[in-house]
Amino acid sequence: MESDNKIKDTILSKSKYISGIQCLKYLWYLVNDPDSIPPYDDAALFRFQQGHEVGEIAKKLYPEGVEIEHGNDIGTELKIAEIMTGLCSHEKLSGSSGLCKTGEKISATERIPLFEPAFSYKNSFARADILVPAEPDLWDIIEVKSSTSLKEINLHDISFQKYCYEGAGLKINRCYLMYINKDYIKEQDTVDPHKFFIMEDVTEKADFLLPDVESNIRIMLDMLNKKSCPQIKISTNCYNPYDCPLKEACWEFLPKRNVFELYRGKGLAFSLYNRGIIEISQINETDILSPAQKIQQMAADQEKVFVDRDNIGRFLSRLKYPLYFLDFETFATAIPRYNGLRPYQNIPFQYSCNRIQSIDDNCRQNFNFLAENDGTDPREQFIESLRETLGYGCGSQELYDGSILKQPEGSILVYYESFEKNILRELAGSFPEHAPWIEHAISRIIDLYEPFGKFYYYNPLQKGSASLKNVLPALTGISYSGMEISNGQEASVRYLDITFLKDSEDKADKEYIDKIRKDLLDYCGLDTEGMIFILRELYKLVND
Ligand code: SF4
Repeated sequence: MESDNKIKDTILSKSKYISGIQCLKYLWYLVNDPDSIPPYDDAALFRFQQGHEVGEIAKKLYPEGVEIEHGNDIGTELKIAEIMTGLCSHEKLSGSSGLCKTGEKISATERIPLFEPAFSYKNSFARADILVPAEPDLWDIIEVKSSTSLKEINLHDISFQKYCYEGAGLKINRCYLMYINKDYIKEQDTVDPHKFFIMEDVTEKADFLLPDVESNIRIMLDMLNKKSCPQIKISTNCYNPYDCPLKEACWEFLPKRNVFELYRGKGLAFSLYNRGIIEISQINETDILSPAQKIQQMAADQEKVFVDRDNIGRFLSRLKYPLYFLDFETFATAIPRYNGLRPYQNIPFQYSCNRIQSIDDNCRQNFNFLAENDGTDPREQFIESLRETLGYGCGSQELYDGSILKQPEGSILVYYESFEKNILRELAGSFPEHAPWIEHAISRIIDLYEPFGKFYYYNPLQKGSASLKNVLPALTGISYSGMEISNGQEASVRYLDITFLKDSEDKADKEYIDKIRKDLLDYCGLDTEGMIFILRELYKLVND
């Protein structure tokens, strides 16, 4: 009886329902032991903020729409839902002015779009991003997303809303998912919401999931009522549709050299794991492994580093001195900041470049660019600075010898070339006057990722990853731990923070800005310095 009452009192919000669809164990912790869930990191908070900004643009499509005030607690929210569904007239309610205003909106003779009205039915509670009146007494649900495509999880979201709103008494006409048009190009200072969004009618897809919503809720509530969390095996749900914040804790039991370290082998790893094969050394069917994975198995079995000297030697023989070690940092926002940009287009704001004349050169020359945090488009200054650093001069007379482009010598080493090459190509497209030297610079690029991505070198300490963050410590013992900024996403979020959210005129902000700028220089500098250390180690391996 007591447990029935507890279930009766438990309300599942839309976000909790979605968490439960991803994993019941995650939902159990969210509700019953929320303190064990790690707080959101800066990157996640940044994504939420982006989602909020996108939502505000969507509202501009309905200029006659009204914002429904949020109540102070869930009880108030539920009362608002009662008014909105006509279960209770606003005259009967006293107290919050929000309640009264909401009631007035829903009972107005002229029906208007509503932003974020809340509804409740049985154990469900949801707010609609936008509800749009449809004839004669129906409503369209519009769910706004800051992604650039429809995802399966969005349909669960909308089917849950439809279940909740219809149960509460609303008559739903169509369901739409509104997401970002990835081909939109910002042309004016303000974003045109008509071109910025794609609206997809997902009514039938949501209806397909609708019959399962009530039973899903029942399963979730029964599970939440248990004293201990459900025993759920790790699966692709741990990172799909979202990275689960409990992944570190749930995956902690895996031993060293486990099958999830197999290079590009998540699917294979799960099929092995589900058959009870957890360690790479336990895999007997070697024909299921790719060449890279076989090297991993050999390294794991023999507990030693794998080195293919011939291929490393061939890689090194392609390098032309002086060498330039180059790394870019970029930011990307859902809503383009500057004209001519697409949503989520990477904008370079920083580079680090180290130049050495020979591998034993201890007097490396270091060049850095970090855009001013004044909010202006950093790309032109970035290009001008990079052109000079890479040896193309800083003026058209120096750049051209007659009509022939001067061709500076020296390979440009980057780590994971597609990133830097894509940035350079986009810059050449946006600033065609720079295209000749940029194209030439691209032709000089050599990818230091290659010896590791092709497994010419593999150290089990890399845990199956060829990323710079894993290779550098495995090969040289130098790591990013202890650095204030330790990955590109953090760099991007911090730069956006000091550029768009902080005021350099404010004394406290100024100190923070100075510190972040130093952290950014340290971080980007370690990437290129680390590449030099890695290259030296590769030379040692072939010369030993
Ligand atoms: S990490 Fe995986 S198993 Fe653990 S709670 Fe998250 S989704 Fe569930």
